[in-house]
Order: sequence, then structure tokens, then C-alpha cells
Amino acid sequence: MATNKARWLPLALLCCQACAPHTPTPQLGPPSDPFAATVVRVRYVMGSMLKIAVDAPESQWIELLIDEAFSRAQALDKLLSNYDQQSALSRFNREGSVQSAMVPPGLYACLRLSKEYSRQTDGAFDITVGALVLLHRRTATPKPEQLKAAIAGIGDKHLRLLAANRATMDHPQTQLDMGAIGKGFAVDAIIDLLKERRITSAFVDFGGSSFFGLGKPRGLAGWPVALGSGQTVALVDRALSSSNSQHTGKNDALEFHIIDPRSGQLVNAKRFVAVTAHTATQSEVWSTALVVDPSLAELAKRVGVRIEALRTDN
Ligand code: AMP
Ligand code: MG
Repeated sequence: MATNKARWLPLALLCCQACAPHTPTPQLGPPSDPFAATVVRVRYVMGSMLKIAVDAPESQWIELLIDEAFSRAQALDKLLSNYDQQSALSRFNREGSVQSAMVPPGLYACLRLSKEYSRQTDGAFDITVGALVLLHRRTATPKPEQLKAAIAGIGDKHLRLLAANRATMDHPQTQLDMGAIGKGFAVDAIIDLLKERRITSAFVDFGGSSFFGLGKPRGLAGWPVALGSGQTVALVDRALSSSNSQHTGKNDALEFHIIDPRSGQLVNAKRFVAVTAHTATQSEVWSTALVVDPSLAELAKRVGVRIEALRTDN
């Protein structure tokens, strides 16, 4: 039987070719360049390169639109930065401890979403890790009493949102850090703006770790993002974020920088996680949460997060 089939196969192929003389010849050569038809602009924002690509002919209107998108990201940096002592978050970190303080509506909205994601990730993502992050950033070998004090202020319950853009931290050691979510807010704000202006095909790359593919690039199934090891994900109306338990710190040395808020321990296993989600805020949060605790993978799937890569040495 098998021999018979094999003998008939070339004939069947010939038949098909003969019956379908108008089948288009497949395009050969290199794959399409996803940026071939786009206007691409790059600017340094939030300590990273922010790249915005919009599929549209070059025009003053597009230039102004992309400028406005950069301005949205810069405005968020003014709200959320831990490096800028004048940012609204830095001010709240100084003034919001124990006493309540007024915060700008934009920061209040980000605090509210951060608390929601803390609940969604079972506490693996928590912006109240600020004091401990700073301690590890400043000191290679913190003293046990310093660690104890910084850990005491961690906990979503210590950040209390009061009515009318007012908030407080009810523990003197609590400090907030938006480093694991800020880029996600910015990418989503840019995508919202582009959608408002009826853009249907665009790509945002924030620092090589937070992406959004709006629609598709011409001639491709989606906006491609390479994840290393030969893996590529094509984004269509979806965000992708990656987190790594190690980053480049002082003197270009690799440092662990992600904290398990539930134990106050630095995650010191080598882990790389990439996830996709409907919003960049959600993908940003979950890539960090899964570096903290890969066993949350099932929970991630239940809330619509797709794990594209999870590489861990333990
Ligand atoms: P990412 O690279 O997006 O995973 O963000 C990591 C940064 O977020 C760190 O450098 C800290 O500033 C902060 N961070 C560390 N651990 C956590 C955590 N468990 N939840 C929220 N933010 C964190
Ligand atoms: Mg993150």
C-alpha cells in the first residue's frame, strides 16, 4: 500500500500543477522588513531608549503625533521616577509616610493599578519594596539590622489610598518603587494616543524589554520580537515584556535586583521571563512577578497572560 501511494504521489502533484496554472509564485528572498513602511523615531526617556514606529507616510502630522507620544512618556517619568528627586513619587516617598499627602491624579491612578496588580499576582509584584531595593542598590553587603528595617516596610497593606487623590504609607520604612511597572504605563499611554488618532499599525519598543505591536506590519503576520535562542514572537494588538533577575549595575557588573516581597529576599537564581498580555502594564507586572515566583505560571494563564519564555537555573 505504502509503495503504491508513493508511486502515485508525483503524479498527484503534477495534476495539481496542471489544474491550477494561475497559482501565484511564492515570494522568495529575505523576509519583509517590518519597518520598511514606517516612520521611526527614538528618544531617551526614563533612562532607556524609547522607539516609536508608525506605519504612515512621513508628514508633519505624524511628526507632531510622535512628539506628543514622547511627551506622554516624559510626563509619566515626572510622576513616577525614583531617580528624579522632584518627581511626584519621590515627593510622596518623602511626605506620605505616616501622614497623608495629596498626589497628582495621574500618580493616584498608577498607585491604584499597582495595588490591583499586587493582589492579582498574589503579592509577588509589590511597589512597596522601595526601601529594600535602594538598600541593595547602595550596599553590596547590607547589615542584618538594615535588612530587617527595610523589610518591615514592605507590604501592600502599608500603602493606603484615601479619597480624592490622597494617599498615605502607614509604616515609617515604606518606600515605593515603580521600576517594574512604569514602562508599561508609558507604552499603554502611547498606544492609547495612537489609537485615539486612528493609527492602525505601529510598534513601540521601550528599552528592549517592553513592547507593543498595534495591528500588523505590511506583509508580515505580526511585529516580530526576538527572545534569544532563535525564538521570535509576532505581536498583533498585544504587549510583550521581559524581566531578568540580573541587570547591569554599577561598574557594568551584573547584579540581582528583584525582590520577593513576601520574604524580603533578593531573588538570586538566574531567571529570564517573557510574557505577552493585552496591555503593557499587565505584561510588565507579570514578567517581574514570574521572576519572583515561577510557580505562579498557572495563575498568570488564568488572568490572560501568555508565558512565551521562562528560563530558570533552579
Ligand atoms: P523589571 O526589570 O521590570 O522586572 O523591574 C525590576 C525593578 O522593579 C527592580 O530594579 C526594582 O526597582 C523593582 N522591583 C524589584 N522587585 C520587585 C517586586 N517584587 N515588585 C515590584 N517591583 C520590584
Ligand atoms: Mg516589569
